[in-house]
Amino acid sequence: MYITMISSECAPVAKVGGLGDVVQGLSRELEIRGNAVEIILPKYDCMRYDRIWDLHKSYSDLWVPYYDHHIHCDVYFGFAAGLKCFFIEPHSHRNFFNRSVFYSNQDDPERFAFFCRAALEFMLKTNKHPDIIHCHDWQTGLVPVLLFDVYKHLGMTHPRVCYTLHNLKHQGVTGEHILRLAGLNPADYMNQERLQDNFNHRAINLMKGGIVYSNFVTTVSPRYAEEIKNTDLGCGLQHTLHIHSTKFGGVLNGIDYSVWNPEIDPHIPARYSVDTLDEKFRNKEALRHRLLLRQAFKPVVSVVSRLDHQKGVGLIRHSTFYCLDHGCQFVLLGSSPDPDISHEFHNLRHQLNENQDCHLELSYNEELAHLIYAGADMILIPSAFEPCGLTQMIAMKYGTVPIVRNTGGLADTVFDADYSHRPYHKRNGYMFNDFNFEGVESALKRAIGMWYSFPEYFRELMVNGMNYDYSWNHPGEDYLNIYNYIRE
Ligand code: ADP
Repeated sequence: MYITMISSECAPVAKVGGLGDVVQGLSRELEIRGNAVEIILPKYDCMRYDRIWDLHKSYSDLWVPYYDHHIHCDVYFGFAAGLKCFFIEPHSHRNFFNRSVFYSNQDDPERFAFFCRAALEFMLKTNKHPDIIHCHDWQTGLVPVLLFDVYKHLGMTHPRVCYTLHNLKHQGVTGEHILRLAGLNPADYMNQERLQDNFNHRAINLMKGGIVYSNFVTTVSPRYAEEIKNTDLGCGLQHTLHIHSTKFGGVLNGIDYSVWNPEIDPHIPARYSVDTLDEKFRNKEALRHRLLLRQAFKPVVSVVSRLDHQKGVGLIRHSTFYCLDHGCQFVLLGSSPDPDISHEFHNLRHQLNENQDCHLELSYNEELAHLIYAGADMILIPSAFEPCGLTQMIAMKYGTVPIVRNTGGLADTVFDADYSHRPYHKRNGYMFNDFNFEGVESALKRAIGMWYSFPEYFRELMVNGMNYDYSWNHPGEDYLNIYNYIRE
């Protein structure tokens, strides 16, 4: 099968969070299974150019409609983690992708609407007719709309579209001028069956467009699929998902074990597996050394996260003190575009500066993330909601025991040591229900108690987690089944 991914992120060159990992990991799995995969991305100035191999201009005659004129684009080709990627570079005073950041500009809807149009125009002009176009999140929600209402009539009749929702919190609710920009007549779309937002009737909703127009819609875990259809976590799209429920389902994300694997990880000093688990301790020592923590008989509790309200920043802050007061060391790697949250954590770091059991690293650091997964004993993920969550699955592969809230993909992957209905050898972590201090403390207390009082049982949890297969193997097959289903 010939599959084109259209996405705003792809690890390792353009990654903000899990979306980047998913596009890379799924694409690689599809290739391993003998499919031809291409990825179309914006050419951001802030990409990791050092991670792209053989980047060169491959098409320079692309004129993309924009309101009543055209913007000239160059298209570059290069390999990112071995995957074939096309990068679109518009030449316009609007400077869409030269902002030193991937997101959080006020004109994001405009930037990505233009990107959708440019990706399809590029495919048309270069005669690309994939079997499947797979697009992701609100940034590419206009792709199926444009494909079926514009490009189909220009000869692109073959591709079918799979659309994946990674986070319903961000839907691309914006003004109708965005449609005009992309060459669509707003009057045709401002109704409830199409792109009109379900609550703000003067706005359009780009994610809704993706849902309505795609041949199949997935989200990134079965639990989140139920939550967004049936609870407030749908952020206003519940009704739309109900209407389209026959073409909607949850597929749990996978982890790319060629990147996240303690047996081959080049970023950690001591490699290990289930059979050589004692080696993990050397990574704990190295982590302490690197972060200037003292060597002590204490568990290391870690957090690797975007610092966002979704991730439970208040509970993370509270847990820092709880862990330090209850015999743990605490390590956090996180960054936030939100100035208030960022300020709060800088203050916290300042307050704990002298503490030899605590280190807060407020940055984005891929290499350090690997060392933390390998060196920590536990990882804390107290999310308000979590579409899938990759960090708990990565951590488990490294024998680091997750402590998570009972929501979304966390609930599909972590099975409580004390309360799960699964047999003991399938239990792999700790879970709490209530999104408050008592809730997170209840789980931390059990986990810390287990580490100190029953180390053998704690070690069993580590091993159980390592034995789970959260690779792309199963989800890769699920996606191929979906692709085949919509091609029929
Ligand atoms: P989300 O996509 O909501 O941010 P996920 O759990 O799905 O959360 O994916 C997070 C990914 O981003 C993981 O690969 C994690 O290791 C990585 N990550 C998060 N914060 C940082 C950071 N500060 N430095 C390095 N990697 C990070």
